[in-house]
Amino acid sequence: MEILDGKKLSEDIKNEIAQEVAQIKAAGGNIPHLAAVLIGNNPASESYVRSKVRSCDQVGFESTLIRKDDSITEEELLEIIHELNTSDDVDGFIVQLPLPKHIDEVKVTLAIDPKKDVDGFHPVNFGRMAQGLPCYLPATPFGILQMIERYGIETSGAHVVVVGRSNIVGTPMSILLSRKAKTGNATVTLTHSRTKDLAAEVSRADIVIAAIGIPNFISADMIKEGAVIIDVGINRVEDETRKRGYRLVGDVDFDGVAGKASYVTPVPGGVGPMTVTSLLMNTLKSSRKEIYG
Ligand code: NAD
Repeated sequence: MEILDGKKLSEDIKNEIAQEVAQIKAAGGNIPHLAAVLIGNNPASESYVRSKVRSCDQVGFESTLIRKDDSITEEELLEIIHELNTSDDVDGFIVQLPLPKHIDEVKVTLAIDPKKDVDGFHPVNFGRMAQGLPCYLPATPFGILQMIERYGIETSGAHVVVVGRSNIVGTPMSILLSRKAKTGNATVTLTHSRTKDLAAEVSRADIVIAAIGIPNFISADMIKEGAVIIDVGINRVEDETRKRGYRLVGDVDFDGVAGKASYVTPVPGGVGPMTVTSLLMNTLKSSRKEIYG
C-alpha cells in the first residue's frame, strides 16, 4: 500500500507556485492577492483560514483576512462581498463556511462574482465545470484530481464510487471524473444516504472517494483488493491522550483498509492540504485572467 501524501505533494505544488510568483515579481507584474472572510469563531473554520493565509505567505501571495463577529447581518456581509467583487486589488476571495444560521449561504454564494470565486462554489463556475468550459474548479475536487494525476493513477475506464453528494465535494467530483478529459473518462457511481446497498456499491470500485462526515465509515470489508481510497472526511473524535482533547480522523478506517488498498490518503495530511493548494492555483489563474479574460 502506498500513501497518497497530500502534505508532501502540496508542498511541491506550493514551491512551483512560489517560483512563478518570484518570476512575476521580477518582471514587475501583479502579485496574486487572495482575501478570506471569516465570520465568528468556529475552531475548525479558524484553523482552515489560518492555513490558507499561511499558504499565501509561503508562496509570496498577498492575503487579506476579514474577520467579523457572529452578530454581523446578512446585509453587512453582502456589502463586504460587493466591495471585494469590485476591488481592483483582490484577485479572488473566499467566504469560509459554515455561516451563522441567520445568514443565507446560498444568497452569499450567489453574491460572489464568478470571476473571483476561487473556491469554485458559484453556480456559474459549477455549470461551466459540468460542460467542460474554462472555470474555477471547486477546490477540494480540484485537489483530488491533482493528486490522482500526479500519482499516475489511471482513471480512464476505472469504476469510481463517490460516497456523499454535497455540492462542494461529492457531486462535482462525480462530474469531473466522468468527463471526457485527462483524469476523467471513469464510470462513476454517486452514492448517498439513500443508497440501498452501499457496501455492495463500494466493493465494486477501483477508486473510492469518501466525503460523508462520519468517522471510519468505510471499512476494509467494504473495499475491493487493490482499490485506491481517497478520504475527504475531516472528523474530530475525542481523545484524552491529546493535549487538545481530540484527534482528526477521516471517513475511512485507515488502519483497516491499509492492508487491502493499493493507495490511501491519510487524515490529516491527505486531501486537506491539496484543497488549500487548489485555492492558490485558482487565485494565480485569476490574477493572470486565465479563465474570464
Ligand atoms: P455534507 O455534510 O454536505 O454531506 C454529506 C454527504 O454524505 C451527503 O450527501 C449524504 O447523503 C452523505 N451521507 C451521509 N450519511 C451517509 C450514509 N450513512 N451513507 C451514505 N452516504 C451518507 O458533506 P461535505 O461538505 O462534502 O463534507 C463531507 C466530509 O468531508 C466532512 O467530514 C467534511 O469535514 C469533509 N471535508 C473535507 C474537505 C477537505 O479539504 N479535506 C473539504 C470539504 C469537506
